[in-house]
Amino acid sequence: MIDVEDFVISSLPIKPRKKPILGMVISPVVVELLGKKLKIEKNLAINLLHSYDDLSFLLDDNIDYFGKYGLDFDNIVLDNDHTDKLLDGIEKLIFGGFIKPIETEMYRCDCGFVDVPVMVANGYSDGKIYHLEDGKIICNNCGGVCQKYSEKSLVFDLKSKEFSHDIHLFPQFEKKDVMTFDQNDKINFHLVSKARDTGYQVSYLGDKYNVDIDALWMNFPQIYDQNKQIYVASNHQLYAIYVMNLINNALGEKEIFYILNPYLGKGDNLRIDTEKIYEKSPIYAKVAIISSLRWRKKDCNLDNSVLRALSKYDDDILKALYDEMTIDGLNSNLEQELNQFFNYDITIQNNMKTLKRLVKSRL
Ligand SMILES: [Zn+2]
Repeated sequence: MIDVEDFVISSLPIKPRKKPILGMVISPVVVELLGKKLKIEKNLAINLLHSYDDLSFLLDDNIDYFGKYGLDFDNIVLDNDHTDKLLDGIEKLIFGGFIKPIETEMYRCDCGFVDVPVMVANGYSDGKIYHLEDGKIICNNCGGVCQKYSEKSLVFDLKSKEFSHDIHLFPQFEKKDVMTFDQNDKINFHLVSKARDTGYQVSYLGDKYNVDIDALWMNFPQIYDQNKQIYVASNHQLYAIYVMNLINNALGEKEIFYILNPYLGKGDNLRIDTEKIYEKSPIYAKVAIISSLRWRKKDCNLDNSVLRALSKYDDDILKALYDEMTIDGLNSNLEQELNQFFNYDITIQNNMKTLKRLVKSRL
């Protein structure tokens, strides 16, 4: 059996929303399910570290929202409560020689919202921060044209051979996609510093640098004391996970395992109230989500047939089903055992069989 004391399972920090949506609960549902099964500390991590928007006013609302699915965690962890540990991680990386200043060509706008390496901006467009217009890079915040600058920035060397580039994750087929970043010879470093004041600084040989919030955040495994950590995230966060994994490999302190849950969209012909499936009951919503995830695919839907099939059972039986899913732990080969668990044991087909058996034994 695994050493439960030294293990933690957590979401990657989730950004609160003005209007929380169903898609936000997928990772937390998986955290609770596996945390219960493994009998280890299960945490919900929330992302409040941000240099532009203070989202802390949304916190209570979002935590209430997770409560509607009956989710239960050992801790709710706010990333901005642990900036000392996150900064320590950056300093350790500097000390280890993994972060260095290099002369970098940057695109930047007047408001400072856009501050990206030229090489990255030319490779692909980050639609949230800037967009391309007539070959020019336009800031989505101030609408200004970004200019080219050359300056010294701190970067994390993504191509260093001084640490392992391997990653441990489930489902296995995602590994290939994470590794495409590693093989891409246009992606050589991850920017750690920004020109504008982010509120967090480190020094390198007497020069002060402002630490980029994303780079700070990617030290997240530093926050937990446990040496073995499982992170559950959406498979839309592959680049962040790629960098986070290399940073952790460079530090060489913790064993990390990633679970990349399928992206759950909504079915084509669903009623609008599917977004509020928790209104039927929290346990119904939870079991419906678990039964809808297709771990062999990147995307899946909450489909009507699953919702209809489960709606025939009362909460006590659905609760008994959930208890059965979480009854015994896993041993040590997570990759293999998660494959059995997600792709066989708790599929809708198997859950329907279990439900029928549970009803029979109650009669
Ligand atoms: Zn701007």
